[in-house]
Amino acid sequence: MNTAATRGLETVWELRHEVPENALPSRMQKALREPMQIRRFGEDRFIVETTGGTYVVDPDAETCTCADAAIRSTKCKHQHRVQWELVYGTLQTADRFCAVCAAPIEDNSQPGLCKDHHPDSGEFVRDRETNATLIVIAITPFRADVYQTADGTPIAAYPSNAAYGDHEPVILATYARSVGPNQSIEDAPRYGFPASRIQRFSDARRAMRYPGVGYESSRSS
Ligand SMILES: [Zn+2]
Ligand SMILES: [Zn+2]
Repeated sequence: MNTAATRGLETVWELRHEVPENALPSRMQKALREPMQIRRFGEDRFIVETTGGTYVVDPDAETCTCADAAIRSTKCKHQHRVQWELVYGTLQTADRFCAVCAAPIEDNSQPGLCKDHHPDSGEFVRDRETNATLIVIAITPFRADVYQTADGTPIAAYPSNAAYGDHEPVILATYARSVGPNQSIEDAPRYGFPASRIQRFSDARRAMRYPGVGYESSRSS
């Protein structure tokens, strides 16, 4: 059964529920939380409709027709949003490569990681730095040098993450020891890890999933 717990997050909308308010710089918070309608426009451009106006984003050329991008030449919230929608598979894109091993990504539902480097929500994994067992909560489309902890420190800036890539997507997980059996991990403290710091167990152990992680309740129909 393809339950939400084994499928992981699929949309930016679902991601909003997992990312704390202060985990991203303010422009990226807006990109994540403001309502935007996005649709493809021609081969490689996208129309972004917001309450403030309608803009055209070209992710390859890194351009947007809004004032932020066109006049102040910064990477605007519309560009961030299109990029994440592409990573999350709600929009289709041609060539994508794993941020850890550079293998081509065939399954478009995987945010920036190949099958081998993409754990599922609820999967038990190992933290390479501490050897601790973690439970995966979500795979985010945010780079480790962008996603930050409550004090404003990017995940990539922690000395324990020096061996891992700044460009890797952040995986949110909690320590298995901090959660009791059959207890919801909704309120467990969650931590961000660069993707390659997470080591997946053997196939047999991957089959053991922590129950209740994911979106069954909000998605049952
Ligand atoms: Zn823009
Ligand atoms: Zn990979």
